[in-house]
Amino acid sequence: MRLEDNIRRVTPYVPGEQPQKKVVKLNTNENPYPPAPGVAEALRTMDADRLRLYPDPEVRMLTESLARYCQVDPEEVFVGVGSDDVLSMSFLTFFNSGKPVLFPDITYSFYKVWADLYRIPYECCPLDEKMHLRKEDYKRDNGGIIFPNPNAPTGLYEELDVIEEILKSNPNVVVIVDEAYIDFAGKPSAVSLIHRYDNLLVTQTFSKSRSMAGMRIGFAVGNRRLIGWLKDAKYSFNSYTMSWPAIVCGTEAVEDRAYFQKTTEKIIAVREWSKKKLAELGFEFPDSSANFIFAKHPEYDGGMLFSALKERQIYVRHWEQPEIRQYLRITVGTKEEMQKLFDALDEIMNK
Ligand code: PMP
Repeated sequence: MRLEDNIRRVTPYVPGEQPQKKVVKLNTNENPYPPAPGVAEALRTMDADRLRLYPDPEVRMLTESLARYCQVDPEEVFVGVGSDDVLSMSFLTFFNSGKPVLFPDITYSFYKVWADLYRIPYECCPLDEKMHLRKEDYKRDNGGIIFPNPNAPTGLYEELDVIEEILKSNPNVVVIVDEAYIDFAGKPSAVSLIHRYDNLLVTQTFSKSRSMAGMRIGFAVGNRRLIGWLKDAKYSFNSYTMSWPAIVCGTEAVEDRAYFQKTTEKIIAVREWSKKKLAELGFEFPDSSANFIFAKHPEYDGGMLFSALKERQIYVRHWEQPEIRQYLRITVGTKEEMQKLFDALDEIMNK
């Protein structure tokens, strides 16, 4: 046996760039506004001596705050280091039948990476011609289902009746609805369904609508049995995944509902204005319910636009995957940042 034969080798997920210089950064769906004021205050007044101690392994303060926000019991909430951590743990915990897990072919590309990492077979289901999920594809024998709602990078929201149909067709496998972008949808969350479907797990994140990508907080909501299994897996890895600053700052963010609502509404307003601007420039895009817009231009190559914007210090996201290589995924920034983007596009396309 060679050394290489003993290694768990994987092709890692490639996140969007985090340039160290100042750019107009519309490439990783971060929030352009700061976190709730209570977060800054908590950081300012934090007692470093508290770091001597391990944090609460059960993360009660944050879990209880989230439970109140979601109107569920604390035993129905699981927290992790970003929703990537929660999702990774969920793949490990719930997708163990040896049957293929199903997810859309155009979706969050980390799903394939976790499946490969844990040796979970998977099959991708094509989106329909309007880029929506085809619910019929999720009615066959499978080892579990996962999709984002709204989907990424399309931004399209699926109504809860579509999700319920998928849940009803799959009572014996876990269906994960990744709601990283739900707060921008202005539509109901699947959290309201967790008491009706034993097989439903919903995940959300603090990285987008709560402006805390740098703090790494995500959570899952589901019935106690599912959450109990997730905790067992997590405590078998590491008993203290949430740092004390994350617990304190995360709780501050959840408690300030007015600020959350105000910033989320601002982003939705700028998104709707940006859709009009993009349409005027001739772009085509699915009608996003997220904090990004997935747009292509019938006359200009996606890769060319991506590079020309980057030269002008405007970063958006672009993939080489053939089905989507004409598209740019543009995060909704402030109105000023979006205006810079539109001015640059104007300049590039009028050359
Ligand atoms: N799900 C989707 C669909 C995402 O786009 C992202 C952001 N990359 C995540 C989950 C993970 O976000 P985080 O780990 O920051 O919570």
